[in-house]
Amino acid sequence: MAQSRKDYYEILGVSRNASDEDIRKAYRKLVKEWHPDAYKGSSKKDAELKFKEIQEAYEVLSDKEKRAMFDRFGYVGDPASFNRGSGRTPGNAGGNFDEVFGDFQDVFDVFFGGSRSGASNRSQGPRAVRGEDIHASVVIELKDVILGKKVVLEYDRNKVCQSCDGTGAEGGTSYRTCPTCNGSGYVKEEHRSFFGMFSNTHACNTCNGSGRIIDKRCGVCGGRGYEKERHKVSVTIPTGVENGATLRIGGHGNAGQNGGPYGDLYVSVRVEMPTEFRRSGNDLYVSKEIDYVEAALGTTSEIPLPEGGTETLKVPAGTSPNTVFRMKNLGVPSVSGGRRGDLLVSVRVNIGKPSSKEKKLLQQIAKLKNSRVVE
Ligand SMILES: [Zn+2]
Ligand SMILES: [Zn+2]
Repeated sequence: MAQSRKDYYEILGVSRNASDEDIRKAYRKLVKEWHPDAYKGSSKKDAELKFKEIQEAYEVLSDKEKRAMFDRFGYVGDPASFNRGSGRTPGNAGGNFDEVFGDFQDVFDVFFGGSRSGASNRSQGPRAVRGEDIHASVVIELKDVILGKKVVLEYDRNKVCQSCDGTGAEGGTSYRTCPTCNGSGYVKEEHRSFFGMFSNTHACNTCNGSGRIIDKRCGVCGGRGYEKERHKVSVTIPTGVENGATLRIGGHGNAGQNGGPYGDLYVSVRVEMPTEFRRSGNDLYVSKEIDYVEAALGTTSEIPLPEGGTETLKVPAGTSPNTVFRMKNLGVPSVSGGRRGDLLVSVRVNIGKPSSKEKKLLQQIAKLKNSRVVE
């Protein structure tokens, strides 16, 4: 199949904002009309070309990713490469009747009304299974919560095998659509009883639900469709993150099966708090010791900041022990990107044992204040 720059919408006769259902309906109608073995017109050759064109258009427009690509660029990469790997449309949509039928579930629906015994009605390809999630944890410091941090995580995961595009088949081509389920991975059984028609759907036994039979296993992955890789991902820890929070990094888990998406990476964050700080929401608490004379006469004190460095706090004259001062916007930023919380400073007053010289001066103050002190 050569790369082409056709207008797939025009080929199917649908508008650019046609729904999936519209596209499906248009495709079914055209396939009925143009299938070379059903075509009533004079030129079989033209019918064949037209039929291929219809298939190509449907293959692109019925696939979310390919359709988006086509909408954006007006064409879809190398058709040969998207035939493989996606799991939806294995094999090459060639001209012969059996091959076409094997590849395109929808053709079955059209010609046999979807009621062939043992065959499934489902139009989806083989059951796509999402990859497993991976869990990791990081330890960061309080200053990282204030400033944000990028960490690079490195771990082993399963990636889609490049050699077979995740099909598990040599070269990504040496497989056939499962004849039992016609590639759907499911088998629908219908039986009639006194009460009416019953149907039940179960995974196909012939292909174990994969929808395909591998003729020759991929030598790189041994037929699993994935291989181990050392994966590296740079994770931005958002400012304001709470201790114990979990971040979801989409698509960095293990490879899926049958074209299913990758799982996610979950990173749990532990924040190592310096002993002097305590966090409550976006506010931080710290305590600071000053001398009783400083408390009485007023002072300035250097308060440690969570991001490092200090900020000067003015302690007014006559400050009682355990007074709490609020330093605005020096706490933790809100995780939604809002303003920072506050830094609350609790002042401890150290009195200590006075020297003999201090004692004499304090006795003078005691006289002045008529304080009841021991001699
Ligand atoms: Zn099967
Ligand atoms: Zn492989």
